[in-house]
This record gives sequence, C-alpha cells and structure tokens, in this order.
Amino acid sequence: MIHVGINGYGTIGKRVAAAVDAQPDMTVVGVSKRSLDHEAAAAVDRGFDLYVPDTAADDSGGSCDISLTGSTTALIAESDIIVDATPAGVGADNAEQYAQTDTAVVFQGGEASTVAPTSFCARANYAETVGQAATRVVSCNTTGLARLISPLDEQFGVASVDCTLIRRGGDPTQSNRGPINDIVPDPVTVPSHHAADLQTVLPSIDVMTKGVTVPATLMHVHSLTVCLASAPSVDAVHDCLREERRIELVMSAYGQDTCADLRESAYDQDRHRGDVWENCVWSESIAVDGRSLSLLQAIHQQADVIPENIDAIRALAAADDAETSRQITNDALGVGL
Ligand code: NAD
Repeated sequence: MIHVGINGYGTIGKRVAAAVDAQPDMTVVGVSKRSLDHEAAAAVDRGFDLYVPDTAADDSGGSCDISLTGSTTALIAESDIIVDATPAGVGADNAEQYAQTDTAVVFQGGEASTVAPTSFCARANYAETVGQAATRVVSCNTTGLARLISPLDEQFGVASVDCTLIRRGGDPTQSNRGPINDIVPDPVTVPSHHAADLQTVLPSIDVMTKGVTVPATLMHVHSLTVCLASAPSVDAVHDCLREERRIELVMSAYGQDTCADLRESAYDQDRHRGDVWENCVWSESIAVDGRSLSLLQAIHQQADVIPENIDAIRALAAADDAETSRQITNDALGVGL
C-alpha cells in the first residue's frame, strides 16, 4: 500500500483524494487544508483525517467545530507521498519543507517546472519520474495536448503542432474570475506559455500555442492543426485515437455538440462530481489534408489531471510501469468506460 497525504483540499485536492481512495494499492493518510470551511467538514464526513498548516494547528476547528488530527508536518511525516494541491505558487513555498523529509511529492501545473526534477504526463514520459523524489503534473491544458500528441507522434510522426487554446475564464466556484463579457487574448504574446510547458514532457515537439480566455466555466476547447510526417486517412486517425482510454471520440451526431452536452453526459453517467477525465475529441472535426491534420477537442480542466496525479504517485513509488499504472487507474476510476 502506498500511503498518500494530500496538502490542499480544493478543486484538485479533493478530486485527487477521492481518486486515491478508489485505488487498490493506495490509501489516504489524510488531507490538509488551511480554511476550516464546508469543504473541510465534507472531507471529515467522508472519513478523511483532517490536518492543518502548522500555524493553525492549535485551532480546534473554531466555530465550524471540525475535528482536527494534526499538523501538515505530521501529515508529511506519516505519508510515503504527498500530493501538493495548494494554490499556484504555494507549492513552491512548501518545497523546502518537503525536501527536509523522505516523503516524495507530486506538485501541480500551477508551479514552475523548476519546482521538481521532472514534469509528468503518464502517456508521454512516465519512466522519467520512476524513483524520483518529486514531480510536477503539467497543467490541465498541457495534459490534454500531451495525451493527444503522444499517440499521433508514435503512429504517424508529428513534425509540428499549432494550437489555439480557448480557455475557460474560471472554475464554477471562482466567482472572482472573468471575463464576464469579453474575449481576451491570454496571454497576448505568442507563443503562450503552454508551448514551453508541453516541451517539458515532449521536448522534441515543435509547437506553437495561442491562448484566448472566454466567459465560460465548463471546459477548455483546443483548435489544433498538426503537421504529420505521413499522410494518414481520417479513419486511421480515428483508429489511433480510439485506442486511447483517456481520449473519447465524441459525436455531434449523438447530440454531443457543446461542452455543456459533454458535462451533462458525465452527470447522466453518474460520474463523481460530473467529471470528464478524458480528452473529448469531436469525431466530425477530424480532417486530413495530405500531412495536415485538424481537429477540435474539449478538456475538463478540473478532471483531466486527476488520473495523471494517480499515475505520478505510482511512478514516484516505482510501483508499476506506465501501461500497468494507467490501466489500474483507469479501471479504478472508470476512465474510458
Ligand atoms: P483551489 O484554490 O481550489 O484549492 C486550493 C486548496 O489549498 C484550498 O483547499 C485551500 O484551502 C488550500 N490552501 C491554501 N493555502 C494553503 C496552505 N498554505 N497550506 C495548505 N492548504 C492551503 O486550487 P486548485 O484549483 O485546486 O489548484 C491547485 C493547483 O492545481 C494549482 O497549482 C493549479 O494551478 C493546479 N490546477 C488547477 C486546475 C483547475 O482547473 N482548478 C487544473 C489543473 C491544475
């Protein structure tokens, strides 16, 4: 059993904790959270031991009357691996504390790539992280790109990638984010940071990215043109992507026209929190003109990195190879079913 602690129990942390809990070879030691709010209470109700940053460890739970197990320092000491899912930048602040222990760490994509010796996507570069002391799961957008480009590169050879990322303005709970009535180049400089981030896991890919943020919370959408080394048929591209459990070929013909349809479909399947772990590639968008492949895909920003965090834990623990880990994770969560 791999003993896993989760530091930061928000959008990503609570999903990682539930996913760890679902694995046959992992157990949740506890979760650490700074604010003792309804999410903290829900964690305790769910059966997770609750820890708090050391500075708050004397607080009994205050008016919320939540029972605390200990400090984050204790959680780190009791865990084989810590998943740091604190807000972007806080992970880097925590890195020194982790480095003073034997506990390995999974950081998130909000941190700079220098926070850990490797960046991670299970489909792209799992082996680089095996046995390391720390890794960083790349961002939701980069995970979506790396998962798509890896099989295309293996099967057809990828000469270059050009992607426009239509980014959601915020998560549903982030009422302080926007825009609420605009379309914002984000960043206005080209390439956007996603290109360099993709190269942390796929260094040989020639990639151009541009970002635009829109008033939406449901998902990101990527519009891609991929220059291939060969000229496959549309059917061959379909077959290649259909092999990938973390890629779902969705169809407008089945009423899967919009991101809202994709999310509603996940709720209809009784998926926990309505999560869509897979890249959703619109089948009808796949077009090939010689060596040029175009397609559209949607990425559920709150969910696609969750299976990756689970595989990153196994890689750090040197527990399994990439394919075995991905299969255990997929089966335990129901990814690609
Ligand atoms: P969040 O704000 O939803 O959750 C952060 C959690 O950390 C909260 O529970 C908060 O109480 C807690 N926290 C804050 N300061 C803390 C501290 N000092 N110690 C312990 N806990 C603390 O953030 P999130 O959206 O889950 O993002 C976490 C990381 O995941 C970031 O690096 C982010 O860039 C990355 N990420 C986010 C998304 C997304 O769509 N939300 C997608 C992919 C990656």
